[in-house]
Amino acid sequence: MPPPPTLKITEIFSSIQGEGLRQGEPTLFIRLTGCNLQCDFCDTQYAWLEGEEMSMEDILEKVEGVREDFPSQWVCLTGGEPLFQDIKKLVEELKKKEYKIQVETNGTIYQNLDVDWYSVSPKPPDYFFQPEYPKKAKEVKLVVSKELNLDVIQRIRNEFPDTIPVLLQPESNQKWSKEKGERLLRKSAHQGLKNIKVTLQLHKVYGIP
Ligand code: SF4
Repeated sequence: MPPPPTLKITEIFSSIQGEGLRQGEPTLFIRLTGCNLQCDFCDTQYAWLEGEEMSMEDILEKVEGVREDFPSQWVCLTGGEPLFQDIKKLVEELKKKEYKIQVETNGTIYQNLDVDWYSVSPKPPDYFFQPEYPKKAKEVKLVVSKELNLDVIQRIRNEFPDTIPVLLQPESNQKWSKEKGERLLRKSAHQGLKNIKVTLQLHKVYGIP
């Protein structure tokens, strides 16, 4: 099937990566519109529907524009769920321009893409992810929501190699969620689970997009 002539895009901007192991690095973000899930704690609900159809040319031009404002080699494809649309062509075009590409996905959809960094963030209630991701992911992020518990962390830890960190990310940096994350980290340590870490959403600390 030919790739779609346009992609629906919510926003393109330069900022600092606030999540995961790439936290703190200048990054260009392409936020794709749409998601196949509807998490109640979603902090990007505006990306479920709001966006405009953009041609490949327009997307690349906008990326180059925001790069002038805050130079970076990294482009993060995020959402919504960036894999909800066919992004093969976009990835190919970004690669031609020698960008490094990160994809932030909920893990329920897989496309065979030449990307440098998959951040996989399985979501409740079932925390399902496609079987390719344990080999592809550079990190797993779990939002410390009301649903997250030690059994889920244990299952995810068992299904991804120990070398891939499992990051417990508080829900919008809220106090109750940070406290729960700390408790879960302590329990994980007592269970002997390796490479589990607590984290924060850095961009929310800095008050930037
Ligand atoms: S998967 Fe991510 S973008 Fe989609 S609803 Fe859940 S938190 Fe929001």
